[in-house]
Amino acid sequence: MNAPVLETEEHQALRAAVAALGKRYGRAYMTRVVRDEGHPDELWADAAKLGYLGVNLPEEYGGGGGGIAELSIVLEELGAAGSPLLMMVVSPAICGTVIARFGTEAQRRTWLPGLADGTRTMAFGITEPDAGSNSHRITTTARRDGDDWVLTGRKVFISGVDIADATLVVGRTEDARTGKLKPCLFIVPRDAPGFTRHRIDMELQAPEKQFELVLDEVRLPADALVGDEDAGLLQLFAGLNPERIMTAAFSLGMARFALARAVEYAKERSVWKSPIGAHQAIAHPLAQSHIEIELARLMMQKAARLYDDGDDLGAGEAANMAKFAAADACVKAVDQAVHTLGGNGLTKEFGLASLIVASRVARIAPVSREMILNFVSHQSLGLPKSY
Ligand SMILES: Cc1cc2nc3c(=O)[nH]c(=O)nc-3n(C[C@H](O)[C@H](O)[C@H](O)COP(=O)(O)OP(=O)(O)OC[C@H]3O[C@@H](n4cnc5c(N)ncnc54)[C@H](O)[C@@H]3O)c2cc1C
Repeated sequence: MNAPVLETEEHQALRAAVAALGKRYGRAYMTRVVRDEGHPDELWADAAKLGYLGVNLPEEYGGGGGGIAELSIVLEELGAAGSPLLMMVVSPAICGTVIARFGTEAQRRTWLPGLADGTRTMAFGITEPDAGSNSHRITTTARRDGDDWVLTGRKVFISGVDIADATLVVGRTEDARTGKLKPCLFIVPRDAPGFTRHRIDMELQAPEKQFELVLDEVRLPADALVGDEDAGLLQLFAGLNPERIMTAAFSLGMARFALARAVEYAKERSVWKSPIGAHQAIAHPLAQSHIEIELARLMMQKAARLYDDGDDLGAGEAANMAKFAAADACVKAVDQAVHTLGGNGLTKEFGLASLIVASRVARIAPVSREMILNFVSHQSLGLPKSY
């Protein structure tokens, strides 16, 4: 792959260094971890030691002082090597960002050094069974009881709750003045009484598992609330843009991994007089995938730049578009890679077939492609809403 031209020398050096780390692990490592029902602890620890996991977090709390631009480079390159770390989307990107930007000084000191050096992980829970794409409908509710908060509700499809020290849960409090429910973020420790999880049996072959959560009168101290009760929505959006940019990076990494396997194979495999890659029916879709990946990365870079420059609103549209484009590029690249390998595309040895399921995730989560098309229809084009 060509070095992306819009990046600084530091960015390109970071890409090269992360790619070298990824190469030491690769797809074989991830396949082994999944088969053994384990977690990519060694890779997580190595990436942390090199400062990659907290590259976006403030230096005074042990981070690298960079932004989402740098963090997305790390995830894309690990993915391109076949060993992506999904929890990076959640732990440093959403939770780290929200705590760094809106947490109290005590919350920053408690969480950020651990999130930066990888010794602590945080999951993020917003999706609910009866709300789904409509997060305005979430019902997990926090009520005050003296100085404490008491949280009750259900969440679904929350990734990595088993390994995370805590989950950043999106709930609602009742506005005393208007009586309206408003979103608020709470840090819920993994073993808090009343906080239970049930693993969802997914078809996905990935080390990070998804869980259904029940919060049954979970009592939390006053300082479990992140930041300001009145700025919940703003805080939430501050975390969702990095999530979308990182999901784009995750998809681009997987797309590049699949495309590279296909190109390699198409150059070597000959069943007539020349390699199959000489046939345009094989070459053109691969070329198109390469174009789509490059285009999606441009939008991801734009989104990251806007976000890191503090333009939350401008970053919103670009982050949605980047996630949309990268997810689609990934689904198509994986599909074409499997096809390019013929029968080998479906063997365990070549390890591409399971990516057919994995590549679909970013079309659904954290926000589906239809909800992004809705966003662009209404927000960018000013078209009326159907729902
Ligand atoms: C592997 C995986 C990991 C996940 N990890 C997390 C996590 O860590 N934390 C978390 O909070 N959530 C997580 N999620 C949940 C994810 O964010 C949701 O699945 C996603 O937001 C979609 O919600 P839903 O599944 O309820 O689908 P629904 O909202 O039920 O949507 C179903 C279909 O209807 C379409 N649809 C819905 N409304 C409209 C509309 N108005 N117009 C057009 N089409 C519409 C959708 O696009 C979709 O195709 C994860 C999901 C997966 C699959």
